Amino acid sequence: MREIKGNGIRNIIHTNICIIFMILSIFILTIVYKYVTLKKEIQASLQTSVNVEELYNTTKTEEAEVIEEENKRDIDSYTSDWDLLLVNKKHEVPEGYILELEEVESGHQVDKRIAKSLEQMLSDARKEGLSPIICSSYRTNAKQQKLYNNKVREYKRWGCSSEEAEELASYWVAIPGTGEHETGLAVDIVSRDYQILDEKQEQTDVQKWLIDNSYKYGFALRYPTDKKDITMINYEPWHYRYVGIDNATYMKEHDMCLEEYIEYLKQLEEEDYNEIVL
Ligand SMILES: [Zn+2]
Repeated sequence: MREIKGNGIRNIIHTNICIIFMILSIFILTIVYKYVTLKKEIQASLQTSVNVEELYNTTKTEEAEVIEEENKRDIDSYTSDWDLLLVNKKHEVPEGYILELEEVESGHQVDKRIAKSLEQMLSDARKEGLSPIICSSYRTNAKQQKLYNNKVREYKRWGCSSEEAEELASYWVAIPGTGEHETGLAVDIVSRDYQILDEKQEQTDVQKWLIDNSYKYGFALRYPTDKKDITMINYEPWHYRYVGIDNATYMKEHDMCLEEYIEYLKQLEEEDYNEIVL
């Protein structure tokens, strides 16, 4: 009897040790996986920290030059236009930037000048049976700072130094003063059925529709996956930026992100200027 009881206790101890061992193994594997993922992310982000100006010089091809020449007269927008305001890591929101806000839906506010286009785009998407919702719109600088600090803290918790954490965070949340949400010209739109901000977002019917149609309303997918080296922001298939219909159409047709398009317009302006002066 005592032996049976002893065996029972041994079995229980053995089972408990097995469970603890399994939990520990899962915990260690999770830590190792997170560490490896983080290391990869750090390496990737450091590799992409290239000089944007240098990149423009190296990516221009003969084919692009021919297209530029062909479309030269189609462009009637200029880099000083309000809807082409460039805000990124190298171009901060201009000091004293004034904007008039208008509420669109669910308490979200945007620059008054883009409100109608945005509402029309959402309304047309809904007519197609889709359920787009705005999840982020105009943000104050203080709000941007808060979001950025949270992201930096998250990376620090995973053992990154302050410098690494700030670098990595900036690929997900714009450094305060360098985010388009502060201009009121950008919105994050997701599907009501899938509201997680990750790459799967692009597989939703809402994103598929927006990627195909947003240009008709003057919006451009601001951070395409293959432009990360230029935009310095990770792929965000939910962030749309108003640039005007002509600009958005040209950018879509020529697969240009805003940085590339503005650089292209600057070259045109320079050529026009030279033509006038010479
Ligand atoms: Zn956004």
